[in-house]
Amino acid sequence: MLEPAAMAPVARTELDLAATCRNCGQALAAGRAICQNCGAAHGAANRCPHCDAVADVERHAALGFRCLVCGGPRIALDIQGVEPSVRTNEALRSAGREQTQHVMFSAAGFALVGMGTLAVLVATLAVLATSPGALLAVAAFAASAVPLVTGAFALSRAAKARKNRGDAILRARVSALGDVQAVTGVLPAPRVTEVLRLSTEAAELVLAEASIASYLNEGPAPRVRVEEPDRAPEPVEAPPNEATAHSPVAQRGKTES
Ligand SMILES: [Zn+2]
Ligand SMILES: [Zn+2]
Repeated sequence: MLEPAAMAPVARTELDLAATCRNCGQALAAGRAICQNCGAAHGAANRCPHCDAVADVERHAALGFRCLVCGGPRIALDIQGVEPSVRTNEALRSAGREQTQHVMFSAAGFALVGMGTLAVLVATLAVLATSPGALLAVAAFAASAVPLVTGAFALSRAAKARKNRGDAILRARVSALGDVQAVTGVLPAPRVTEVLRLSTEAAELVLAEASIASYLNEGPAPRVRVEEPDRAPEPVEAPPNEATAHSPVAQRGKTES
């Protein structure tokens, strides 16, 4: 699921070494995709999966990074010659969808809880002022509680979307690390913080997730030999007529009956 995407290694060329920023004209540092002078982003590594623009990212508290053009969740790749795989971009699009859900359900949830609180307050005042029968009072409170309950449901959906968004962003980072390492080979942790522009803690989380993913992918397939120990050991000095009785055909016929 998280294996590195098939990608031809990109050869270093004279053009790469002499690359200049299309925005300010300064030479780009070797292998970097972000201009150190003006911050302009270059190359396929910085093509947004949401709006398709080659654009730099800005830091965002909830998303980690977001697109400077469309605001969608992004990863930051400061390296030339690496293209995010379909899997990385799909994880980012998934994070974008969850972000939309999170914003929608949060807004609806807070609005409904606000309305519900107000409705309960009004019902309380009305009941106190008019002293209706118990049945009417219960009905008034039940009706005013409907937006509260609906709002609470919307807020729980928002929390679920927030968790899914975080999972998708981590998945995108792990996948992007795989895309980078498919070109560069295994990177040491300090280089990962540079290339993905992450804090040490965030980079360590990505590396830990990546090693779990690779373990799950590359570990031996489980349960392949579960039945082998139950098989009776073959007789070593069996006479020829008994050996034919234990032939595979005879055994298969026995187990199928
Ligand atoms: Zn520049
Ligand atoms: Zn964008």
